[in-house]
Amino acid sequence: MKALTKETQAAITPQKALELLKEGNERFLKSSQANRDLLGQVADTTTGQFPFATVLHCIDSRVSAELIFDQGVGDVFSIRIAGNFVNEDILGSMEFASKLAGTKLVLVLGHTSCGAVKGACDHAKMGNLTKLIEKLTPAVDAVSEPKDQNLRNSQNIDFVNEVAVTNVKLTIDRIRKESEILNEMEQNGEIIIAGGMYDVSNGKVTFL
Ligand SMILES: [Zn+2]
Repeated sequence: MKALTKETQAAITPQKALELLKEGNERFLKSSQANRDLLGQVADTTTGQFPFATVLHCIDSRVSAELIFDQGVGDVFSIRIAGNFVNEDILGSMEFASKLAGTKLVLVLGHTSCGAVKGACDHAKMGNLTKLIEKLTPAVDAVSEPKDQNLRNSQNIDFVNEVAVTNVKLTIDRIRKESEILNEMEQNGEIIIAGGMYDVSNGKVTFL
């Protein structure tokens, strides 16, 4: 399998980009990874990269976009931060990936049993992590059930996972609101901004 070129990248529509990730996750789930010569792809991409998707995901060691979507060298821009939220630097990275480097899809990928989300549910405080975790507080507050404060913590895994889904949705809202470039590209049909959840128990990505 060759790395993407300017021509093959241009031929991928936003909808097709979403399909490619879905198909990649299906291969991952069947352990039937595409036959890739990664070093060959290194050679293919020496003078340029033409990835088709940008994936914002957590630093969690179990959730690597290239592995779970069965992608090779030069296929995706991976933006990783604990709790997969956006700030202006991350929005800038997405704008580079979409507007200048030509990717057709921005995927915000949350995952189950996320440590950062658990920290936010517990309002944890520790060093620089405190500030990071506070970024996820809007998602915690946006989940209205359960009302009982004793059930709104990391011990309640259903609550944690609901907060993670909500965080993906709020992050997509923020991308649309805070990035004029990405919002316009989506309106023009040049990109899709989508969300997904990765299940650490079975490797499956559910698109929202
Ligand atoms: Zn995580």
